[in-house]
Amino acid sequence: MIVYKLINLNRKINIRGIIREEEPLNKHTSFRCGGCADLFAVPADEEDLIQLLRELKEMNIPWFILGGGANVLVSDKGIRGMVISMENLDDVSLKEHVLTVGAGMAVSDAAAYAADQGLEGLEFIYAMPGSVGGALWMNARCYDSEIAVVLRGATILNAELNKEYIPFREEDWEYKKSPFQNRNCIILSAEFSLKQGKSEDLWTRMLEIRRDRDEKGHFRAPCGGSTFKNNRAFGAPSGKLIEEAGLKGTRIGGAAVSEWHGNILINENDATAGEISDLIKLVQDKVYRQTGFLLEPEVLKVGEWEEDGDAESD
Ligand SMILES: Cc1cc2nc3c(=O)[nH]c(=O)nc-3n(C[C@H](O)[C@H](O)[C@H](O)COP(=O)(O)OP(=O)(O)OC[C@H]3O[C@@H](n4cnc5c(N)ncnc54)[C@H](O)[C@@H]3O)c2cc1C
Repeated sequence: MIVYKLINLNRKINIRGIIREEEPLNKHTSFRCGGCADLFAVPADEEDLIQLLRELKEMNIPWFILGGGANVLVSDKGIRGMVISMENLDDVSLKEHVLTVGAGMAVSDAAAYAADQGLEGLEFIYAMPGSVGGALWMNARCYDSEIAVVLRGATILNAELNKEYIPFREEDWEYKKSPFQNRNCIILSAEFSLKQGKSEDLWTRMLEIRRDRDEKGHFRAPCGGSTFKNNRAFGAPSGKLIEEAGLKGTRIGGAAVSEWHGNILINENDATAGEISDLIKLVQDKVYRQTGFLLEPEVLKVGEWEEDGDAESD
């Protein structure tokens, strides 16, 4: 295991944005747990990001792209190499009904911007945590829609660090799957095809959605949203299967299956990532024994993990 330290690099990383060492990732993820990134960068803009990636490539330093951190469980041992925050890539521009948004912008802000312009299509994603890049990567879905429905195309950086435009093709997208998951790339921006709407109506819908999320307890405790994917073949949503297995309120250390929703596992009391991971495993095992269905986690375990289920806090 290599721990990357600036002092050992024998050269400066020349970017305009921020570079930090040993950055605690609990500050950057919605689960609020996990270890440090050896190195952490916030490039100033797209050009700065490309410069950074070129340098990392030359120095053979691995990197991980972090959006809003709303769907990742970072290991207690942290992430080796550099974690790159996309937060400054948040430009937005509008041409007729096509909204182009930087990957680092919060999806909720993109929906708010569109609604202010009287453009319809992104309301469903208002109040969902995370960035535009993360929503594309995950093919985020909620309130009877998904990001693929309004996507016209995306500009990415490919493995050679060249810009490429990827037009939307229906066959590349499935439930919780996007074409970006199968290739080594960084999403720079997204183009959404929106329709003319009435700003006031769009805001009414968005505030309803926000209220509904509040009532469902999405923001009551640190979490990653739904922990498991739903699977039609299981005949019921994952949350219901978990509830029927009697698992609501089950706890391992500071991690808990929330009392209000079976599919929301929370960091209730300073949980380690290992405890949350162990709870994920426990829920999977119990539901499997009871129903024969193996729940597939939606939350992504990232960083340095050993085997599934070994609490790294030990
Ligand atoms: C309270 C709560 C409610 C939620 N509700 C929903 C919901 O209703 N529907 C839903 O689908 N999800 C939901 N989620 C999960 C989460 O909001 C989504 O998965 C979101 O799309 C994650 O985006 P992010 O920017 O936080 O991605 P991150 O968690 O930062 O990253 C997720 C993955 O995307 C990759 N990635 C991120 N940005 C880029 C980029 N620019 N280029 C390449 N790869 C990138 C990362 O490397 C990582 O592999 C919820 C989460 C929370 C905490």
